[in-house]
Amino acid sequence: MTPAAGTRLWLRDPLAILAEGAAGGIVVAGSRIVERVAGGARPAGPVDAVFDASRHVVIPGLVNTHHHFYQTLTRAHPAALGKPLFPWLKALYPVWAALNPEAFRLACRLAYTELLLSGCTTAADHHYVFPRGLERAIDIQVEEARALGIRACVTRGSMSLSERDGGLPPEALTQDDDTILADCERVLGLFHDPAPGAMVQVALSPCSPFAVTRRLMRDSATLAERHGCRLHTHLGETRDEDAYCLEVFGMRPVDYLDEVGWLSGRTWLAHGIHFDDGEVARLGRAGVGICHCPTSNMVLASGRCRTCELEAAGSPVGLGVDGSASNDASNLIESVRHALMLGRLTYGAEAVSHRDALRWATEGSARCLGRDDIGRIDEGREADLALFTLDDLRFSGAHDPLAALVLCGASRADRVMVAGRWRVVDGAPVGIDTGALREAHHRTALALFGAA
Ligand SMILES: [Zn+2]
Repeated sequence: MTPAAGTRLWLRDPLAILAEGAAGGIVVAGSRIVERVAGGARPAGPVDAVFDASRHVVIPGLVNTHHHFYQTLTRAHPAALGKPLFPWLKALYPVWAALNPEAFRLACRLAYTELLLSGCTTAADHHYVFPRGLERAIDIQVEEARALGIRACVTRGSMSLSERDGGLPPEALTQDDDTILADCERVLGLFHDPAPGAMVQVALSPCSPFAVTRRLMRDSATLAERHGCRLHTHLGETRDEDAYCLEVFGMRPVDYLDEVGWLSGRTWLAHGIHFDDGEVARLGRAGVGICHCPTSNMVLASGRCRTCELEAAGSPVGLGVDGSASNDASNLIESVRHALMLGRLTYGAEAVSHRDALRWATEGSARCLGRDDIGRIDEGREADLALFTLDDLRFSGAHDPLAALVLCGASRADRVMVAGRWRVVDGAPVGIDTGALREAHHRTALALFGAA
């Protein structure tokens, strides 16, 4: 099923492919793409195996740049229905305090699997909930990613400012700054691989300006500099956040980001909605990446990310599904469609195309994660690919296959390859019993987080 090491596999004559000069397909050797084949041509070198891709639309594996896997356990939770961000968070914090390692492991497995099935090959998770007993949450995320063979960017999140200190979360969900920083060092030392082709990278990700101390923001930036890793946090998601920052820090969120040493190309932000023109220009100049989360932004009615202005200003723009309590799915190709629709509503029908939305979810997302080895179909890049068929009724009558993928609403990949290995075959994840996983995850979710 998966080609042996050294084997050259030709994915031949795709129905459509999101790559220049590859109408005849691509050749994969080991973990990388080694050749694009022109339409009607054959590969320059010999091949050992051929995969007939004539039923498939081939795109670079999607890259998800923001999620909270644990929230798959509290989808459509009664405590959170119909609320905007701050009341939504306050309703869910006490619920999430019950999270334990067994439940978290199932949540990670489920979220990775769901993402893979939607064509995602690299997943970043923002995990910031470490109740007593779950201190090794990042280790669990890495173990689960390795077992599934998906590429991961695990981000060591944190909350150190409880309600008592003027923050938003309850004390049971916070840790002190020293404990957090020591664990950041630990997981960076254990898991962060800065090399091209890395399967696991670590980033540091204080939850948001209203959940951690100034010191933790500063020390995280220093630590990231020392280890050569990325920085991630929520910023500019709601107007409430502007008001909070003005009241507590005496400045707007972007000024605060600057003050704590985060206004750099090392940083990518989740949401990035409420920035004025001057702030967009500053973020762009600094090369700060923005993870646009269209589905979540619509569910919580948080606002519309200024994707086009940010990209024009120089910011990499990527996509994220966001946590499964505000999406409530982990389906990245579905969020590509939402990005297209929300973008058109904001900028007009001629301003945002399906190619723009796909670019955000692939190359843009890869740049947010600081990676130039994934996100495109090109010689030398990792062989991370998502293959979709257009066999469902919803695609019948479609003319442009690539546009149909987004406009008709693809939701499940037929095949997914990560680092040259098939991880989804015929619409099913390799090595995972989805029925058993669904049963265990759902049972755990109801038992732990069911409404009292
Ligand atoms: Zn989030």
